Amino acid sequence: MKRILVIEDEPQMRLGLRDNLELEGYEVMTAADGEDGLTKAFSFLPDLVVLDIMLPHRNGFDVCRELRRRSVGTPVIMLTARSQESDKVLGFEVGADDYVTKPFSLTELLARVKAVLRRTGRQGPEADHVTIGDLDIDFRTHQARRGSRRVEFTSREVELLRYLVAHTGQVVTREQILNDVWGYDESPTTRTIDNFVAKLRQKVEPRPHEPQYILTIHGSGYKFVG
Ligand code: CA
Repeated sequence: MKRILVIEDEPQMRLGLRDNLELEGYEVMTAADGEDGLTKAFSFLPDLVVLDIMLPHRNGFDVCRELRRRSVGTPVIMLTARSQESDKVLGFEVGADDYVTKPFSLTELLARVKAVLRRTGRQGPEADHVTIGDLDIDFRTHQARRGSRRVEFTSREVELLRYLVAHTGQVVTREQILNDVWGYDESPTTRTIDNFVAKLRQKVEPRPHEPQYILTIHGSGYKFVG
């Protein structure tokens, strides 16, 4: 079942969209402001986000920009009450995939949702699932197995691993990890990152002291190699 996150502050619109998308067979989560929307985008891991532009706390442009900055490639359909061309341009600039102007018909929105899901079909670095050596990790359920044995990960460990995997082959600095995985409203130190990486290695690496997947790049940060 495809999962859709609806971020819309007008209750009637939000609930109407939820009900109708559910009737179409989607699993739907809603958020009434930009901040909550972002939080849910990271916990619910939707296949698609329907994102209003005019929102309290953080507007839709800001939410979309933040998702892309944190390497979340989930497709986004933006909704706006305005039909200004500049909104549309900005929407695409911050990484939206499609754009619907209010008022729109439900049929139109549903058609766009289907089209975007078909076009983007989640794969690649944003995959839900990864296999590292003999370890199998499902990013959605946070469940991991090695053979028949279950391996426990905390949510933060899974987020960190997911981030490293999404940047396979690239060096990511501790500062990037702090910004992108922890977010700026929390203030762990770079030392925290090192501790988390050490814990991840215990679970991921066959020989944690001689890592072959999560490499330390001296003086720079970390690099995941698949
Ligand atoms: Ca609004």
